[in-house]
Amino acid sequence: MDSNLKNTLARLEQLNQRTSGKGGAGAVKYFKPKQGKNNLVALPRIVDGGYSDPIYEWGVHKNLLDQPFMTVDCDAFNHRTDCVICDCVKDLKQANFKDNMFLWKPMELQVQYFSPIIDLDNITEGVQWWRYGKSVLSQFSTWLTNLEEEETPYYDINNPEKIIVAFDKNAPAMEMYKLEHKALKLPFSKQQFEDYAASVKPLGEILRQRHSQEEQSTLVTKLMSRLKEEIDNAMSQADIDASGSKPGISREKLDKLKN
Ligand SMILES: [Zn+2]
Repeated sequence: MDSNLKNTLARLEQLNQRTSGKGGAGAVKYFKPKQGKNNLVALPRIVDGGYSDPIYEWGVHKNLLDQPFMTVDCDAFNHRTDCVICDCVKDLKQANFKDNMFLWKPMELQVQYFSPIIDLDNITEGVQWWRYGKSVLSQFSTWLTNLEEEETPYYDINNPEKIIVAFDKNAPAMEMYKLEHKALKLPFSKQQFEDYAASVKPLGEILRQRHSQEEQSTLVTKLMSRLKEEIDNAMSQADIDASGSKPGISREKLDKLKN
């Protein structure tokens, strides 16, 4: 057996036994855009001596839990600690980049973007987190890049702008969100706006305990059985090359494993 994979399995076994996490999804309120126009205001990040942009990044791994919408947080990206999934991806790449691609590609690190917002059409909901992809991110960054000398960013604490999000759930992913920004007369006091902004907790604190221990161990068990199967398949393969190195995996076996 490939020694990298052996190490991976040992690590997974360890993780499976580790007790961690309190479980439960916590109180993260996600913003769900409605079809058509949505009016939002983004809450600046309060930092020492002022404020900063409201664009938060979060690393996840997909395709590991039973529900497709469930993701596993990447500890390496989010907390700068070891991430068993990233290690596993690395091992699989090193062992056989091309033949293992069907295993590592779906679970590679993906970065998500979040902003805390107030939905101006539904203020009573309070602070919500809007999760968006690269197409929205690039619209925000265009606004910031095009700022003229005397203009302030859309999240300026003294002059926040209204973000108008035209959402079309039937459009292709890259065209689902069309954004505009305009001057805004806050429908609540400036103090209220600052209080909203100050109430936003760091994303790491909010999202840290999203997955229960059961979910984590389901994940690890699944991952282990996939890897073991992959290794078994590779080992049962007759055509080990002359140098005795790791055998390739046949196309049919790859196809079988994908299911
Ligand atoms: Zn990771």
